[in-house]
Amino acid sequence: MSRNLKFVLDSRPADKVSPQNFRLVEEPIPTPGPGQIVVRHHYLSLDPYMRGRISDAKSYAAPQPLGETMVGGTVGEIVASENARFKPGDFVVGMGGWQLYGLSDGRGVNVVDAKTVPLQAYLGPLGMPGVTAWWGLNKIIAPKAGETVLVTAATGAVGSVVGQLAKLAGAQAIGVAGGPEKCIYATETLGYDACVDHKSARFGEELKAAAGQGIDGVFENVGGELFLESLKRLNDFARIAVCGLIASYEGKPTALPNMAIFLVRRIKIEGFIVADHLPAWPQAVSELAGHVAAGRLRWRETVRQGLESAPQALVDLLHGGNFGKMLVKLV
Ligand code: NDP
Repeated sequence: MSRNLKFVLDSRPADKVSPQNFRLVEEPIPTPGPGQIVVRHHYLSLDPYMRGRISDAKSYAAPQPLGETMVGGTVGEIVASENARFKPGDFVVGMGGWQLYGLSDGRGVNVVDAKTVPLQAYLGPLGMPGVTAWWGLNKIIAPKAGETVLVTAATGAVGSVVGQLAKLAGAQAIGVAGGPEKCIYATETLGYDACVDHKSARFGEELKAAAGQGIDGVFENVGGELFLESLKRLNDFARIAVCGLIASYEGKPTALPNMAIFLVRRIKIEGFIVADHLPAWPQAVSELAGHVAAGRLRWRETVRQGLESAPQALVDLLHGGNFGKMLVKLV
């Protein structure tokens, strides 16, 4: 590849995002100026937060500007460096965006060890999704041995790590996932004690059966009806970590529950954004890497091939078309 290819955001969707909202641009491969590096990206991470950036509604982060390279996490190899922190051949993780080559001043770019784990793990369990799981579970839910933690989107990039960390903490883990295949993976591979299929017509009854002793912690990734159903099963003093509300990113907003439940059951509910907790990342990544090295943490990926597949991959991610971390392979 002698040219750089990148996707820019071309328009904002009125309703659901579609590949037509993005435009492919070809340009020369950048050359680094003083202090700069050029990274050949190997993988692009697709993440639900991108749906929020595509919208210009007020949020915790500024909208993605039209006509500029779409934001996105990347891993790759330094191919040119005018920055003393990096040398060609280094493997790095950063926010290189939806493109084959990224030019940067090195801020927010970190060298990673790609010899002991696959490079793309730094976009999954050893990256932003892993740290998200670690923070929400340990700092908000803080499960005690024997308690029960419910995890929605249980087999996804974040949820799969939450369930396994909950088990390592000695808790019972109940997953909620879309379809029998994901539920079987949740229990047989990830170690959840039970998994409830949210596509089942009997979801409420099946959740009640799975959570026979009630729920002490909810790691909420989805929102909507699933969330309201889980509230019915809460034990006194339960903690709810509001991580994501993906059911409403392209649909109607999550309805507010009857507030009485929070008072009567003395519930703590806390939303969080992992980027607010950067000082905790080294500890989180170090602990997660220890679990990976010891074979205690498993994960899977849905890998789409080629930059051109990125827009459709994002659409699919937002509607359950991924099974594990959604990635685009670029080399
Ligand atoms: P996942 O890998 O979990 O992929 C998204 C999954 O969400 C889908 O596979 C699907 O799983 C589920 N889903 C989508 N739509 C619905 C729906 N209508 N009802 C039920 N489930 C649905 O993504 P991530 O692990 O990257 O992200 C999970 C959540 O965490 C998201 O809400 C995201 O916004 C949030 N997040 C928050 C962060 C923070 O700092 N607060 C940081 C990172 C992520 P299934 O088929 O099983 O239903």
